[in-house]
Amino acid sequence: MHTQADIINFWSHIPDLSDSLTDEDEEPPDGRIKTLDADACLLKIPPPATLFSLPSEASSVSPSQRNTFRKTFYPGVTAKQWNSWHWQVANRIRRGDQLGRFLQLSKDEELAVNGTGTTLPLSITPYYLSLLNPTDPEHPLRRSVVPTTGELTQGPGEADDPLGEDNQSPVPGLVHRYPDRVLFLVHDFCSTYCRYCTRSRVVGHGTINPTTARFERMLDYIRRTKTIRDVLISGGDPLLLSDDRLEWLLSSLRKIPHVEVIRIGTKVPAVLPQRITPALVKMLRRYHPLYMSLHFIHPDECTPETTKACARLAGAGIPLGSQTVLLRGINDTAETMKSLMHGVMKMRVRPYYLYQCDPITGSAHFRTSVKKGLDIIQGLRGFTSGYAIPTYVIDAPGGGGKIPLLPDSVIGKEGSDLLLRNYEERCFRYPDVV
Ligand SMILES: *Cc1c(COP(=O)(O)O)cnc(C)c1O
Ligand code: SF4
Repeated sequence: MHTQADIINFWSHIPDLSDSLTDEDEEPPDGRIKTLDADACLLKIPPPATLFSLPSEASSVSPSQRNTFRKTFYPGVTAKQWNSWHWQVANRIRRGDQLGRFLQLSKDEELAVNGTGTTLPLSITPYYLSLLNPTDPEHPLRRSVVPTTGELTQGPGEADDPLGEDNQSPVPGLVHRYPDRVLFLVHDFCSTYCRYCTRSRVVGHGTINPTTARFERMLDYIRRTKTIRDVLISGGDPLLLSDDRLEWLLSSLRKIPHVEVIRIGTKVPAVLPQRITPALVKMLRRYHPLYMSLHFIHPDECTPETTKACARLAGAGIPLGSQTVLLRGINDTAETMKSLMHGVMKMRVRPYYLYQCDPITGSAHFRTSVKKGLDIIQGLRGFTSGYAIPTYVIDAPGGGGKIPLLPDSVIGKEGSDLLLRNYEERCFRYPDVV
């Protein structure tokens, strides 16, 4: 344990550089950007989109409703059991008839959960279930985990593996798309399945097993591919591995000299925060630099339990980023997105990516237009901290990787001057260097 004194002592060895700053580091005396006169601004700036639609009718579940939920459905269950991730996983809800006891299912949900079966199995932890509105099928978290018949129809342009991950796997389970980093898929298991999951073709099928033989083949590829400096562990949810199994993998990766950074992608803090135990973080912190990307879709996920889980991870010095999928009717207004981004920042999570929903089979009911995504980014930039703004990306179908999208801010050129649009839709001139 480091004391405050140790830390101060550490910093005291870093030389103070403030005296060596030169004038060049200072702001130019006269702001380089000047407002254009009204005429020049007649440039075709599109009218502001309706960015701030009112937040949808709150159907969130209050803490007292959550208490009632536990008393009603899990009367004999002790706090110790409820707070154990093993209990949560063992008692996850996996059948339609079970679900019908907790939620008043709509006709459509009933058809989907009891019908011929969707490709992606049903699974919800009791914890996450306690966050769902029992009477409102439109409740955002509920829509993200309770199947609907929309999943059964294949829309135009949709595919089971739109990102072509299977084609970019040099060995099973490893996706090598970028020169310096790989995606390491440990298994296909999650405690709670998101209905819009990009990997719904594989997750929950029990076909990818975290065996040593399988991991060794993947590790071998990384050992002999010296360009790989960053390994992103994903799945399925890697934090569903036992501490020992995960540690075996992390230590094997750490033994590879060219692997500089290890990342874990997980939805566990949102759906199974009980998994973030002191023992887990104690183990994780031995494998720094370790980063984590946490999957969040809605401010209702920022509960006291999740806040505590993030506090433990952040406390172990793990930089935390968030990943969010843009989902129709769930988080597709600037207001909801802003409140989610503020929610995660308060949990010490830095917004990383906002993903355009991948065109997987049966995703039409979740997808929004790209314009919607751009409008949301425009509704954030300038209106909140830059730290609260994720990078909006489309993961290119066919395996092109993530392509970032930004609302156009360069609206024209006059001579060498660039005409720029600010967040208030006013225009400014910047004398560019030619
Ligand atoms: C997303 C992704 C990565 C990591 O991309 P970053 O932009 O570095 O976060 C790596 N490999 C694959 C196949 C991915 O889909
Ligand atoms: S947590 Fe990730 S891998 Fe698991 S179902 Fe959700 S999106 Fe898919």
